[in-house]
Amino acid sequence: MATFLERLQEIFWGEESAGGNGMAPALRVKVECDQCGEMICTRIEKVYELQEQFAPPEDEENSHSSPASGYLLTKELLGTECPNLICLTMHFDADKELTEHSVEGGKLVEVQDSD
Ligand SMILES: [Zn+2]
Repeated sequence: MATFLERLQEIFWGEESAGGNGMAPALRVKVECDQCGEMICTRIEKVYELQEQFAPPEDEENSHSSPASGYLLTKELLGTECPNLICLTMHFDADKELTEHSVEGGKLVEVQDSD
């Protein structure tokens, strides 16, 4: 059952809950623009937006069959208040857990799993 806060977040983010199967197929990310301080929210669909990364092939035989060693997301965000383009880069491990990130032109404020 969704809490009041979760319902508020659904409204705020403009997304319907997919029913909460625990798989968290998406992330909700909030960044703050360095130039004007605007909060910019975006939704990242892991299936579509994460690029598979592979470890450098140390062993030729394994390089073709090994699963992704991690995932990379790059995304450009533009607010409505100013022309400052924010470049978001996020690295994920093989389980699609966020491991590190960098933001050019802004700051990462919040990352949450999302249905
Ligand atoms: Zn701005």
